[in-house]
Amino acid sequence: MSDLITHLEALSNAPGISGDEIEVRRIIRPLIKDRVDDLRVDPMGNLIAYKAGTGASPLRVLITAHMDEVGLMVMGHHGDGCLKIDAVGSISAKLLPGLSVRVGKKSLPGVIGLQAIHRASDSDKAPGISQLAVDIGAKSKDEAERLAPLGTSIVFATRFQTIGDSCLGKAFDDRAGCAILIDLLLGGRFPFDVYGVFTVQEEVGLRGARVAAYTVEPDFGITVEGTLADDLPKEEADVSPTTELDKGAAITVMDRSYITPPRLLRHFVHVAEEESLPFQFKQPGIGGTDSGGVHRAKAGVPAITVAIPCRYIHSPVSLLRQSDLTATAQLVNAGVRQLATQDLLTTE
Ligand SMILES: [Zn+2]
Repeated sequence: MSDLITHLEALSNAPGISGDEIEVRRIIRPLIKDRVDDLRVDPMGNLIAYKAGTGASPLRVLITAHMDEVGLMVMGHHGDGCLKIDAVGSISAKLLPGLSVRVGKKSLPGVIGLQAIHRASDSDKAPGISQLAVDIGAKSKDEAERLAPLGTSIVFATRFQTIGDSCLGKAFDDRAGCAILIDLLLGGRFPFDVYGVFTVQEEVGLRGARVAAYTVEPDFGITVEGTLADDLPKEEADVSPTTELDKGAAITVMDRSYITPPRLLRHFVHVAEEESLPFQFKQPGIGGTDSGGVHRAKAGVPAITVAIPCRYIHSPVSLLRQSDLTATAQLVNAGVRQLATQDLLTTE
């Protein structure tokens, strides 16, 4: 198994909803600490790795991937011992009933309960999140409060698997991006200083990236993401997918959070063509990424997002192709390395 996949497996299995990314940081730190020149955690929890350049170029480049995943949080306790919950990040409540979850630091097993189908009066109607509760086997409110206090994190209990060229697991958005950023930092020096930042709280509003870009003050920002592949069913003529599997890295032209400067877009397309790397354009208008936080920092930062297409993101199990992951890693690596060779700093 390649290092990319080994790292993705460990990262995918780790719990880390927005605001509680500690376990993900714990995995990343030892992997990169000997290959970077400085490693620190800022007050919000962003893990900032500094890799000094060779000195050939004065640029300062920020590469981000977010550590947090969508999940649930304990918002209270019922008298029967079940946990009241709310979503952290964008999750559809209709996906949740019956799922296995892991609760808190001790990874307690739990299930998202719903009234038994035998008793439900309107079994076709999807419940809202306030109608759902997590059952951890507690028999009283006191016991539930002791086992899972207010604010406790809850994640899907999914374990990573591979099937052929595909990987299945939770939180590929954006642990796949984290795996690529780790790979990049483990490689050789760049012509310029690189700040690899594993950000926090992307799923609740690009919050970590915003402060990281303010701290780093980069000349360029590159966001590595796991993005939406809604390419099924293939037979339907009117399907216009955001991205598709098996077509390589997805380059964003515009999403709801930012617009890629044309010169930066041309650079990445040029590099992909020169290196014969498969790529596609993400269909505009959907989602937001850390580039949305980065590009508005200080006096402004040209930013671009390059992403791995993943089916079923923000659900308990996502699916990606190893070939897309590798192609995205190669494009990000080549695109960043060649930033120094092009005159990209001037806005035309
Ligand atoms: Zn994401």
